Amino acid sequence: MYEPRHELTEDKWEAILNNDTSRDGTFFYAVATTGIFCRPSCKSRPPLKEHVRIFDHAFEAMEAAFRPCKRCKPDGLRLPDEEWMIQIIQWIDHHFAESITLQRLADQTHSSPYHLQRTFKRIKGITPAEYIQEKRMDYAMHELLTTHDPILDIAVRSGIPNAAHFATTFQKRTGLSPSAYRKKHIMDKGEDDEIETK
Ligand SMILES: [Zn+2]
Repeated sequence: MYEPRHELTEDKWEAILNNDTSRDGTFFYAVATTGIFCRPSCKSRPPLKEHVRIFDHAFEAMEAAFRPCKRCKPDGLRLPDEEWMIQIIQWIDHHFAESITLQRLADQTHSSPYHLQRTFKRIKGITPAEYIQEKRMDYAMHELLTTHDPILDIAVRSGIPNAAHFATTFQKRTGLSPSAYRKKHIMDKGEDDEIETK
């Protein structure tokens, strides 16, 4: 029976849904919405059928600008967890101002929330949520000391747009409220600039 090379046939779709390892190497599937491609056996969440594209070879998927999945490594290169972590951290470092859930982070890195949480904790010693919070507070401390921007602006840019929540989180980290932290540092430096602290 003639089968168009790039067609998502029923049996390929079945193989994807069943994570059929016996079909690994016979085709690869890419997901238009995530830009990622996988082996049939990949245990990531099944995509919507209409977003799937089929390739015979990994290089074809990469030529079509799809990136290999970090989980099933369809390009044949093992990506060590440490390297995976670096990519996750780079992603967080660029997106901490946004609302980040574990699910979003997992989707972004084509993993499951459970696997991501466990691997992150094992390698970094803290959870992704704790890392995100640290990153936000580092940024907030830096902005408080290097700008004259209102605290609420800094809170928003730090990814914690709720002023009360921001102040509580900040105090937990530094022992000081954001305005006290800013004032103390200015005094320590012997500066007497008027600083807007509202
Ligand atoms: Zn995959």
